[in-house]
Amino acid sequence: MPLKHYLLTPGPTPVPERVALAMAQPIPHHRAPAFEALFAEVREGLKWIYGTQQDVLTFACSGTGAMEGALVNFLSPGDAILTINGGKFGERWGKIGRAYGLAVEELKVEWGSAVEPRAVEAALRENPKIQAVCVQASESSTGVAHPVREIAAVTAKTGALCVVDAVSALGAMALPMDEWGIDVLLTGSQKALMLPPGLAFAAASEKAWRRAEGAGLPRFYFDWRREREMQRKNQTAFTPAISLVLGLAEVLRWMREMTLPAIYARHDRLARAARAAMEAIGCALFAKAPVVSLTTVLSPGGIDSDKLVKTLKTKYGVTLVGGQDAAKGKIFRIAHLGYFDDLDIVVAVAAIERALADHGWKQEPLGTGVGAAMKVMAEAAG
Ligand SMILES: *Cc1c(COP(=O)(O)O)cnc(C)c1O
Repeated sequence: MPLKHYLLTPGPTPVPERVALAMAQPIPHHRAPAFEALFAEVREGLKWIYGTQQDVLTFACSGTGAMEGALVNFLSPGDAILTINGGKFGERWGKIGRAYGLAVEELKVEWGSAVEPRAVEAALRENPKIQAVCVQASESSTGVAHPVREIAAVTAKTGALCVVDAVSALGAMALPMDEWGIDVLLTGSQKALMLPPGLAFAAASEKAWRRAEGAGLPRFYFDWRREREMQRKNQTAFTPAISLVLGLAEVLRWMREMTLPAIYARHDRLARAARAAMEAIGCALFAKAPVVSLTTVLSPGGIDSDKLVKTLKTKYGVTLVGGQDAAKGKIFRIAHLGYFDDLDIVVAVAAIERALADHGWKQEPLGTGVGAAMKVMAEAAG
């Protein structure tokens, strides 16, 4: 039999069967009442996950499109922004900002570490012209959770907006936008929201919408003000990704059945199990402030993590990802965001133990990591 395929990556993530089936429905026309009813339902569900009274806008694009929109709708040419760069996605804020002629100030953070809210506070004090602080709730390249709640508390005392990329965080952990005072919160469909790639979502606070009125950067497709006007009528300015919206409605129904606290508790449990497993087999964790969405692990004994990842794929059918840039060849990443449960972690850990043995890593007896993971999960189950 050919290898069974296990997709254990931090995006795209596996799609549940009931969601795949919902997306196979015939396509309603997007200017018909049936679509409007569907879109109204989806808009309510998104507000619920976001913890906001604001409109959550839906776009047909990947997460990066919403990142671009989060800058072009609220800023003017030459505006200063502060970007938290401790990984690939933090770096992307700077790239988008520079492409639009913004004065990008980067707060560099060592890969694997989280930014200090005090450093953000100091940067804003030093340069009061900074109009926005751009950060990741979950920096997927390092597996770090940045303290967005604390950062939002810092920006709230200033004129700057707190702009949060939660592409690999929203739906895995609580990010109550209104309660925490996040000004722009964006995410994508293909991570914790259990959908294929192709949708992005974004909401903005009153403070941000006021700023939007004078924002001079060019924009067309990602004009959030036009889009908000349309979406309030349960319409979209352009053709929406209708099949994905059908899938999203099913995701939101299922999430309501599961309840948010239970979903967040599951992510926390899987993260703790994965970390315990890796530590039990003598692998050091890479992230100093690990996020619940994925576990990043230093490849032990000088084993090239890219080679390890290749073995996992070709010999065991397990698709994991290695590291990028500064972490290339050094780390591997175990995803557990979205449609993941306890036994997915068992699969990942078992395959990693076997692959490490294949690469000559002298470790605890096979199954040590699996046992440690199972212990965490059994204890959590009570
Ligand atoms: C996946 C991801 C994105 C978006 O990437 P796309 O490929 O554009 O969907 C942005 N930020 C983070 C933190 C991500 O994990």
